[in-house]
Amino acid sequence: MRYVLYPENVGKNDVQIVGGKAANLAELIKSGFPVPECFFVTVEAFRKFLAENELEPRIRKVLSEIDFSDQESIMRASSEIKRMILEAEMPGSVKDEILKAYSSMMYADGSEEIEFIKAGRDFPFVAVRSSATTEDVEKASSAGQQETYLNVRGGENVCYSVQKCWASLFTPRAIYYRHKHGQKDAGIGVIVQRMVNSEKSGVMFTVDPANPKNRNIVIEAVFGLGETIVQGEVTPDRYVVDRNTGEILEKKLGRKIVERVRDPTGKTVKREVEPERVEAQVLSDEEIVKTAAYGKKIEEHYGRPQDIEFGIEKGRIYILQTRAVTVLDSPEGDEPEGEVILTGSPASPGIASGRVKIVLHPGELGKVEKGDVLVTKMTSPDFVVAMEKSAAIITDRGGVTSHAAIVSRELGIPCVVGTGNATSVLKDGEIVTVDAYTGRILRGEVSVKREEAPASPVSSPASWVPPTVTRVKVNLAFPERLEIAERTDGVGLLRIEHMLTKSGKHPAEYIRQGRKDELVSVLFDNISRIARAFYPKPVWVRTLDARTDEYRHLEGGEKEPKEDNPMLGWHGIRRDLDEPELLRAQFEAVRKLHEAGLTNVAVMLPFVVDPEELRKAKELASGILPETVRFGIMVETPAAALIVEDFCKEGVDFVSFGTNDLTQTVLAVDRNNERLSKMFRTDHPAVLKLVRRVIRICKKYGVETSICGEAGSDPGFVEKLVEFGIDSVSSNVDAVDRVRSAIARAEMRLVLEKIRKERSDGRER
Ligand code: PEP
Ligand code: MG
Repeated sequence: MRYVLYPENVGKNDVQIVGGKAANLAELIKSGFPVPECFFVTVEAFRKFLAENELEPRIRKVLSEIDFSDQESIMRASSEIKRMILEAEMPGSVKDEILKAYSSMMYADGSEEIEFIKAGRDFPFVAVRSSATTEDVEKASSAGQQETYLNVRGGENVCYSVQKCWASLFTPRAIYYRHKHGQKDAGIGVIVQRMVNSEKSGVMFTVDPANPKNRNIVIEAVFGLGETIVQGEVTPDRYVVDRNTGEILEKKLGRKIVERVRDPTGKTVKREVEPERVEAQVLSDEEIVKTAAYGKKIEEHYGRPQDIEFGIEKGRIYILQTRAVTVLDSPEGDEPEGEVILTGSPASPGIASGRVKIVLHPGELGKVEKGDVLVTKMTSPDFVVAMEKSAAIITDRGGVTSHAAIVSRELGIPCVVGTGNATSVLKDGEIVTVDAYTGRILRGEVSVKREEAPASPVSSPASWVPPTVTRVKVNLAFPERLEIAERTDGVGLLRIEHMLTKSGKHPAEYIRQGRKDELVSVLFDNISRIARAFYPKPVWVRTLDARTDEYRHLEGGEKEPKEDNPMLGWHGIRRDLDEPELLRAQFEAVRKLHEAGLTNVAVMLPFVVDPEELRKAKELASGILPETVRFGIMVETPAAALIVEDFCKEGVDFVSFGTNDLTQTVLAVDRNNERLSKMFRTDHPAVLKLVRRVIRICKKYGVETSICGEAGSDPGFVEKLVEFGIDSVSSNVDAVDRVRSAIARAEMRLVLEKIRKERSDGRER
């Protein structure tokens, strides 16, 4: 039996032999696309490993003892099985084949060998990825749990990474999925692929984002690794190629002030580009034409437009990743009709019916069962576990930017906030229908004609939306819904305080109990799942920003100070600087993430008002974080907006508008006060004026701009931001596709207006 196979010996139907991903890759390679060299560890190797270690009966026993109604029980089983797999020994016959394949990779190219020896090392870097045999497993273990280990070097490390991939067959999600679908067995193959150390790299859109009709191919390229494009650190070159004739129609040279390269230890380092190369053309004309030809062929192969990442190493073009552009259709249909009992503000879209469960204080959360409609005075983040079980959520108070509204959007649960008196008007046990598109609560179960948007992305060529130059990112709070990574350009806001609610303990309590390491590890575990799913796209981790009234019900929450106005109180960077151990723990988690290769993680400081706060935070970070970690601030106060120039001078890589707080602080309107919800106008001229000004100043300093407040999910607002020249927009999971369409529309309008103006200026002359 073969434990290792090469792509040339694998067909696209060999899913049961090497797993789905590997079979796909083999197909790409055999179709002539220059994919970095690789070999596959077969499913048979995994079976042999299980058999030799007599693991199968032990695994089966652990699985049979799971209580599937208890998440903890699934998680415990998952860790136990993973531990068994990692601790077991790889059979010699399997190991020999892997080591042989790995070492022949090393000597395949003589020049390579010399380079490695010169660099004082013996082995090439590889990426090791799992490749499951059933699509269901791929689906079940979302992007974040599909294990990929980058920059692995050395035979022993490769073998251990293969074992880690095998263990990924037993993530809690995959176990649950197989149980739910009655699947007994699943196999797993592993891909071992050489890492390309690109001297030049880029992205290619097989359709011009600014002009999809003319079907031109657009290429963006930079020196070094592609991360500088993804991170938005430089203006790349832009080339436009006619897909039919292969003619280069346009070449616009960018300013490539920095490049990222891999150092001999495998670490990615950022360095300045020498002045003579800053504005030099990155790809030769020949490379542009060749790359575009691959783009055209790949699009034809898949039958739809693609967004392709490529790298060029020693003059060879490699295709690193290709993906179709996908989009969700927005829901359409009739509104449900019936007796309207209540109305409020729609905070998270969807329609659902269920039994009302009124929760007046968190102690009553236990009564919420799966499919109930949770009704409460004011949503608060301690409700997360009960919220996850609910079919819909209704609150008396709160606005659409309240944190629980944000959470329900992320979890995809319909939510109506600020009804005024839901807890007294509704009766425990009665059935209601929540229409969270319009904000209405109807009596009984009303049939819904409106088509719900599916929770996972749907690819349909008919609903294709062009890629955009302005990047589209997503706001997240949990390592859930990670399939969104495919359709976005990064995480523009990761609210880490929410992920701590599941641990049941207030973050400050970890420090008080001298358990900083535990806090670091909870943060690391949660963030790493997200950062891995998005890698190498940037993930902006916001440091803790919990208000003192929001986490009272967590262990230690009762010790939080009582403030009259927590919204303007002790939170964000002001608290972190008062409690440096708390900030240190967060930075330590970020350091660990970088050490684990997740160099896409950046730090964002909330609620800043003074560059001194930034300076102090950076000072504290300097002893903990590598210098390459990007630093940004949130612009959520008039102070930060008005003196943004001082922040730029102090040194920031990016700023992001927190328009929830910015609107609150500019207009003096409490964002949680439903009485003032009409006054909470993000598009108030004063807010817009500040936003526009900040973007203009940041451009002058080369500081990237983004938005992560709720206004970033509003297509109308986003169109304005594109006009102002914002670099990226981060929206809620449910709004990503809407926002991308709005951006594309705005970008095309700008291009059209420019052309029209040039034409009319020409006529006038
Ligand atoms: C904001 O203020 O706009 C923001 C994104 O932060 P939060 O909503 O978490 O305060
Ligand atoms: Mg805020």
